[in-house]
Parts: sequence; C-alpha cells; structure tokens
Amino acid sequence: MRRESTLREMGLGPVWRLRDAPVDNIGVSPVPKRGFPAVTPTSAAVEQAPARQHLTPTLAAGEGRGEAIARMDWPELKSTVADCDACMLCRERKQAVLGVGDVNADWLFIGEGPGAEEDERGEPFVGQAGKLLDAMLAAIDLKRGDDVYIANAVKCRPPDNRTPDPEETSACWPFLERQVALIKPKLIVALGKPAAQTLLNAEVKISASRGRLFDFKGIPLIITYHPAYLLRNLADKAKAWEDLCFMRSTMRKLKGTV
Ligand code: URA
Repeated sequence: MRRESTLREMGLGPVWRLRDAPVDNIGVSPVPKRGFPAVTPTSAAVEQAPARQHLTPTLAAGEGRGEAIARMDWPELKSTVADCDACMLCRERKQAVLGVGDVNADWLFIGEGPGAEEDERGEPFVGQAGKLLDAMLAAIDLKRGDDVYIANAVKCRPPDNRTPDPEETSACWPFLERQVALIKPKLIVALGKPAAQTLLNAEVKISASRGRLFDFKGIPLIITYHPAYLLRNLADKAKAWEDLCFMRSTMRKLKGTV
C-alpha cells in the first residue's frame, strides 16, 4: 500500500509495477565496502575534462585550504561552510546549506545546489524537488535521515537558481569531497548533470550515463535525473523509476543480500 501511494506521488502509479532493472550486464558482485572494482564508463557517457581548477581568488590565496578541509571533522566542516566566502555565491545566500541526514549512511544523494526554500531553511531538497526526492526515496523504502545523507555540489544558493558555474563548484569541491570521506557511503547517487560532472570532473550526458556504475574513489556511483528536471519532464519519471530499481538492486549486491 505504502509503495503504491509513493509511486502515485511520483506520478508513476498505477501504471508502473515494481520490477528490478536488469543488472547482469554491469558486472556487479557483492564486495567489501572499500573494495569495489571500478567500472570504467564508456566515452559515450563521460568525456574527459581538464583537471580540476581552483579558480577563485580566495582559493588561490588560500594555499592549503583543500588539505585543511580534508582533515576536518563534522563540527569544523559545518562552521567552515557556514562562514565560507570562497566564491561569489556567499554574497547573496541567506545561509550555507551543508547537507542533511545520517552521517553513517550507506546512501549518499548529491544534488546541484540549494534553491530559495533551502536557502531559507538551511536544509537541502525541502522545496518541490525535495518533495519528489522524498517520494522517490520512499518508493525504494528509503527515508531522508535514515541511512540516507543528502548533500549538494554547492552549499550556497546560486542567484535565480541558475546552474553553479565551474568556479563555484570548484570552490565548494573540498567540502563535498570531505563529506564523502566522512560518510563513507556504500553508494553515491548523483542527481543531475552538475552533480555528476562535479563528482567525475568530466562532461557527462545523463541519458548515456543512466543504468551504469561509475566509480568515485572506490565508491560506486549511479547517475540519474535531477528531481527538478523530472518535475518539468514527466515522461522521464518512468526512467527515473528504472534508475531507482537499479540503485536498489546495486545496493543489495553491495551488501551481499541477494
Ligand atoms: N535542488 C538541488 O539540487 N538541491 C537542493 O537542495 C534543492 C533543489
């Protein structure tokens, strides 16, 4: 019953029935937490981009900033993000939005950046896209905060909800990198192109990347649509459902429960 109502909320029920996405072609087998073999994405999905650049003046001036962030614990990370002025986004934000959820989560979902409501409330994905994300999580029996952590590629709201530019994602990168290192998730899900490109540091085509396993520092990474995109492109919700099934079956294999 619960699944039916969450699927309805996603705009999928009653048309779509639960089924597992085909996974046998992706070579996933149960493995220990850190021993996941990298599945190299094909060039159709990811094109190599130049090495990460740290472009903002503050960053250039702040030698060792990345290394310092890489050593932070959660309280240090939280206060550093709250006070961050490494890029122009700090000028118009009400507050920086670090992330929300279980810091020991197996699941890490990464979006693009806070919108107006997130900027107001200090929590990621609390607006319309967030409601859809919650419904998507519920469809595979997940709940924010319960074995799930949600973060964004940038922690401050880009004005007018524009896509963060490379300088901004670059300035924020050490924070996200540190969050991943602290959480040590079993599986990362990139929601949309900016998140995927930030993690892979490469050009990504969502349509060519869906249903594949990528590797982020030994952690399997799945790429799917951003919920805000799904709100505008209802027809692709069916594909998002396939992606959710793929995530769930991948996690089961990672945990060795199938
Ligand atoms: N979109 C995102 O990518 N992140 C949020 O937190 C909210 C909307």
